[in-house]
Amino acid sequence: MADSQQFDATIFPPSISPLHVTLRELIQQMGISPDALVVVDQAGSIVMVNEQAATLFGYSSEELRKQRLEMLLPEHLHEIHTTHREHYFAEPRTRAMGAGLQLFGRHKNGTEIPVDISLRPVLLDDELVVIGAIRDMSEQYRAELERMQQAEQIRLQAELIELSHDAILIRDSVSRVIFWNKGAEELYGWSSQEALGRITNSLLKTRFPTSLAEVDAHLERDGRWEGELTHTRRDGSLVVVESRQMLVCDVQGHRTAILEINRDITERRHLEQAMQAVHAQAVARLDFLQQIMDALPGSIYLVYGSDARLLLANRAAASLWGAIWHIDQPMLEFLATNGIKIFDAQGHPLTPKYFATLRAVQEGETVLHHQETIRRPNGSSLPVLVNAVVLNSSRWENLVREEVESTTQYAPHESITLVVHQDVSALKEAEYLKDEFIGVAAHELRNPLAVLKGYAEMLVFQTARGKGPKLAAWQSEALEEIDEATSRLDKLTEDLLDVTRLQAGRLVLSREPTDLVALTRRMVTQRQMTTKQHVFSLDTEHTSLVVDVDRVRIEQVLTNLLSNAIKYSPQGGPIELTLREEVEPHATLLSIRDRGIGIPFAQQARIFGRFVRAENARTSEITGTGLGLYLSRELVERHGGRLWFESTEGEGSTFFMTLPLA
Ligand code: ADP
Repeated sequence: MADSQQFDATIFPPSISPLHVTLRELIQQMGISPDALVVVDQAGSIVMVNEQAATLFGYSSEELRKQRLEMLLPEHLHEIHTTHREHYFAEPRTRAMGAGLQLFGRHKNGTEIPVDISLRPVLLDDELVVIGAIRDMSEQYRAELERMQQAEQIRLQAELIELSHDAILIRDSVSRVIFWNKGAEELYGWSSQEALGRITNSLLKTRFPTSLAEVDAHLERDGRWEGELTHTRRDGSLVVVESRQMLVCDVQGHRTAILEINRDITERRHLEQAMQAVHAQAVARLDFLQQIMDALPGSIYLVYGSDARLLLANRAAASLWGAIWHIDQPMLEFLATNGIKIFDAQGHPLTPKYFATLRAVQEGETVLHHQETIRRPNGSSLPVLVNAVVLNSSRWENLVREEVESTTQYAPHESITLVVHQDVSALKEAEYLKDEFIGVAAHELRNPLAVLKGYAEMLVFQTARGKGPKLAAWQSEALEEIDEATSRLDKLTEDLLDVTRLQAGRLVLSREPTDLVALTRRMVTQRQMTTKQHVFSLDTEHTSLVVDVDRVRIEQVLTNLLSNAIKYSPQGGPIELTLREEVEPHATLLSIRDRGIGIPFAQQARIFGRFVRAENARTSEITGTGLGLYLSRELVERHGGRLWFESTEGEGSTFFMTLPLA
């Protein structure tokens, strides 16, 4: 009876006679129907169901009989269904239920089953009943849901295409535009309407990297092409695009369309070109710099990192060392592999940590005019003055970095140090001759000076003892002047002789354990007696610090430093000394601070040189020879110590001296 042919086109309302069936016939029909069938009477009670219906809803046929039809419907439909059912019985006819609507039944376990229901009224033994044929539509429902989801996805994708900033276009087999997204409208200036049907390459005046034919051949061969194109916009301006194209073919392999996505890279190209120009400029400047460096007679190079690895060197650098220092090679490794040695000004082997270059890279110290002697692989020696400066001007570094980062192992955080070596062999030669002369002159001066000093002292002494006539006041003054002048001359000749002794390596130290605290105190007391304008103070927490030194020589150094502190602070003021113990290296550190005229910055680098005096000392007419500091530093260094200073012109100077502790 689910077969619609058997029920014929029986039409209600009652003007047309309905189909009559007997219970037997009905039971038989229900048994063979493939559909789930439910027979309901006018009161809405289930008269009978077939097996399919019972299975569909998860009940047994028995369970359903005489139950209300609504138990097979979702709860929320019960009420409305009752009304519908009543209307239906008032005017029964064969029809599909809920045309155009998705109907749902309710399974015993509560889940909803999408169904399709057609209704047919029949007279069962003269009682009007309705047979509902119910078809499980779960599969179709799921398929429909999927279709709807796909449609939604396609709609979203289409929107996405419109949303893209890239120009997306589709052209047909003869290159006519058949799709033109918003991105294309924005990029090129033609609306979709204007672009559709136009031949793309003539619309956009496409310029190809090679030729259209080549791009086409590539597309044909690989199915896709990627590259840069130049297009002309509607307003005539040019735009560089990164284009991706894909060929679409039908089943026979005929080209049906080409998908094209074009991304505007004009800005990126401009930036790249600008960067290339900057890079080219940097390279040119560096090249220029290299040329200047190569043209200079002195050796100039740049090192980086705490082990002074070579970054850049001029031509003279190679001949300086007499060996090739390879880029990225650490300094000590280079020296060791080539058997190169470095000595100090006195010819003693220099400990690496005192190399000017290593002091600069490791301590960040600016080392100026440091005397070193290089013993090259072939045994020849070269006296040099080394200047090593850590570069911290970012412009300098950027210029160098640009280039070196690509060619060396240099890492951006490492500092770069500029090292300049000046060959001073000619100067050394001249100096040697000068020292020779000074030595001879000082030596020759010594004897007549001793005679002069002896007689002057004898005159003063004997007259004081009443021998000979009493001297007039002016004669006594003249004698004192002679005595003072000869003392100064004597000191000068002694200093000059010390210079020549030092130069010739003839200065011998006779060391003995000496308490530096006591020595300093004594020197301070002595000096304090010579001045009322200055106030000396010594700050130390030590009662004794014993150093192994030549006491006379260290006294000479202290005398010189203390006299300078007095001499170069003509307005007087405090002269403060501190003396303490240093741990690394284990040494005494003495500082002497004055508030005098200071040393002008421009002359600081050379102040330890021989006969060197600062400009302000000369103009203040303070007498001096410029030998004291030279001798002092030499003497301190001979003892294994160091002597240096900090000074600001017009504010004062502080001299520092270390001496190693046993
Ligand atoms: P001299 O004092 O005989 O000129 P030195 O070798 O002792 O020679 O000193 C060299 C120069 O260093 C001095 O001429 C002076 O310009 C400068 N100098 C040394 N000590 C001081 C100081 N304490 N304050 C200012 N300048 C100083």
